[in-house]
Amino acid sequence: MAYFMQSYRNQLNGFNYFRTNIWAMKFVLSILFFLLISNVYGQYEYPQNTFRSPLDIPLILSGTFGELRSNHFHAGIDIKTQKRTGLPIYAIADGTVSRIKISHWGYGKALYIAHPNGYTSVYAHLKNFSPEIEAYIKNIQYERKSYEIEVFPDYGELNVVKDEVMAYTGNTGGSSGPHLHFEIRSSITEKPTNPLLYGIDVKDQTKPTISNLYAYPLGSNAQVNQQQTKVQIPITRQKDGTYRANSILANGTIGFGINAYDRQDLATNRNGLFAVEQKVDGKVISQYDFETFSFSESRYINTFIDYDHFGRHRQRIQLFYLSEGNELGIYNTLVNEGKLQVVAGRTYEVEVGLTDIKGNKTTLIIPVEGRNNSLQQIEKESPSGQYIKASKPNNFDLDGAQVYFPANTFYKDYYANLIPGKDTVTIHNNRIPAHKNFTLTFDVASYPESVRKKMFIARLDRKGRPDFMKTYKRGNTFTTRTRSLGTFTLAKDSVPPSIRAKNFKDKQWLTNYHYLSLRISDDLSGINTYTATLNGQWILMEYEPKTKTITYNFDDKILNTTQCDLRVEVTDNVGNTSMFRSVFFRK
Ligand SMILES: [Zn+2]
Repeated sequence: MAYFMQSYRNQLNGFNYFRTNIWAMKFVLSILFFLLISNVYGQYEYPQNTFRSPLDIPLILSGTFGELRSNHFHAGIDIKTQKRTGLPIYAIADGTVSRIKISHWGYGKALYIAHPNGYTSVYAHLKNFSPEIEAYIKNIQYERKSYEIEVFPDYGELNVVKDEVMAYTGNTGGSSGPHLHFEIRSSITEKPTNPLLYGIDVKDQTKPTISNLYAYPLGSNAQVNQQQTKVQIPITRQKDGTYRANSILANGTIGFGINAYDRQDLATNRNGLFAVEQKVDGKVISQYDFETFSFSESRYINTFIDYDHFGRHRQRIQLFYLSEGNELGIYNTLVNEGKLQVVAGRTYEVEVGLTDIKGNKTTLIIPVEGRNNSLQQIEKESPSGQYIKASKPNNFDLDGAQVYFPANTFYKDYYANLIPGKDTVTIHNNRIPAHKNFTLTFDVASYPESVRKKMFIARLDRKGRPDFMKTYKRGNTFTTRTRSLGTFTLAKDSVPPSIRAKNFKDKQWLTNYHYLSLRISDDLSGINTYTATLNGQWILMEYEPKTKTITYNFDDKILNTTQCDLRVEVTDNVGNTSMFRSVFFRK
C-alpha cells in the first residue's frame, strides 16, 4: 500500500497529473480497490474484451510495443492508416478525457482517456478531434494565445462513451508518415503496457526473423574464435525454419546478441519482438519480454543494445546478457547476468527462442565448444584520452570551454577523447551513451556584446551541420545541457526567418477559402516563436515543422469585416525577427 501512495505522490510532483483532489482521491481509491482484487487472484491479468479497437480498419502495425527506438523503447503500437489521415478514432471504452497535449514535436496532437477500470488509453499524432473536444481545445488555445498546450480536464468534464468518435488520425508531431500511435497505460503508475495484451486482434502467423548473431568475449581472458573482441557468427536458416549458427570455439565468460525483427502477415514493416529466452543445455539463463516497462527506465535501452555498434552502423543488436549500468526491469530470469561460463574441453548448446506476442516462435541453436586456443595477435590500441570514472563527477578544462559530467552520467568508465579549442570543442563521439545531462560552458568574453546576441552553441550533426542547442547566456559565458557527445561550436545567426504565403496572394478575394497557409523557415538557429493577427486580433496558427507550414482555419470565426489585415511575426532562436503583412478580402 505504501508503495502505491508513494508512487501516486511521485506522479503528482512529476506530471501534475491530477488537477482536482476530489477526483484524484476517488480515482486512486477505485484503482487501489482494483489492484487489491487483482492481487487476491494472484497473477496479474489484463481485462479481455473490455477494450475495442480504436479504428474500424484491420489492424496492421508499423511499430510494436517495446520496439527499439532512439534512446527509448516504443511505449505503444503504431497502427498503419492506409497512407491516409482523417480516419475516425473510436473510444475503446467509456471514459473521461484526462489530458490533452498539443506540441510541435513528439506526440503532436495527443488525447488521453482515463477508463474506470484503472487504465488510460493514449492516441497520438492526431489530425484533429471531435467537434466537442475541438471546441474545448480551441477555447483554451485562444485564451492562452498558443497552439502548443497541455490541459488536464476535470474528471467528468469531457466524457466519452465506448464507440464514440473522439478524434481523427493524422501525422502531427514526430511522426514520419500517417499512423495512429496507441497506448494503454496504468492510470496510477503511468507505466505503459503492451496494448495487444487486451484481446485487440492483429493478424500474425509470421515468425520473427534473425538477421545477425554476435558473440561477445566478456571476461578479461575470454575469447571467441581466437578473438577478444565481438565476433559475428554466421547463421543459416534450416528447412524447418529454425536457425543454426556455425559452431564457435570459446573460453571464459561470453555473451550473445542478435539483430532481429518481427513481421506481421499483412505488412513488410520490420517490427520489434515480444519476448526472448536464452537457454544453455536446456536451462534458461536469461528471459525478458515487453509486457510493460516504465518511462523512467526507457533510456536504459542504451545499455540493452550494443551502443557502440549502433553508433557505427545504425543497427541495433539486442544483448541477451546484462551489460554494465543496465537497470531495466524487463527481465524475468537472469542467471549469471545471462552470461555463459565456458570451460575448455566441454561443449554447450545455446538455444535462443524469439517470440512475437501471438506466440509465433523462432529458434536459434548455437553450438559452443570450450577450447583455450592461442589468441590471434592483433595490435591492441593502448587507451588514450581522459579517464572518466563513471561513478564520480568529472570536470575538464577545454581551453575556451569547460565540460562538467555529474556522477553517473555514463554507464561505465572509459577514456574520453576530449579536443580543446577556442570556439569548437570535441567531447568524444556518439558511440558512448550518456544517461544524464552534462554541462558545457563556453567563455565568450572575447566577443563583443552585439555579436554575442546573435550567437548560440551548436552541436555538429552527422553531416557536420550545426544544430541549435538551447543556450543559456550569463555574464561572459554560454552554457548548454545535453546527453549527446560530439563536436560543439559557437555559431552565429544573423539572418531573420523567412515568411511567405502559400495559398493566397496579397489583395486577393478569399471568400471561398477554408484556411490560410504560410511557409515559415529559418536557416540556422531555428524558429522560436510565431504570432499572427487578423485586424489586430490574435489568431491560432497550427505549426507543422515537418512541412514548415503554419495554418489558420477560417472556422475559428475571428472576422467580421470584408477587408482583413493579416500580420505574421516569426522570431528565431537568437531573436532575429521577421514581419509579414498582407491584406485580403472576404464576404
Ligand atoms: Zn508510435
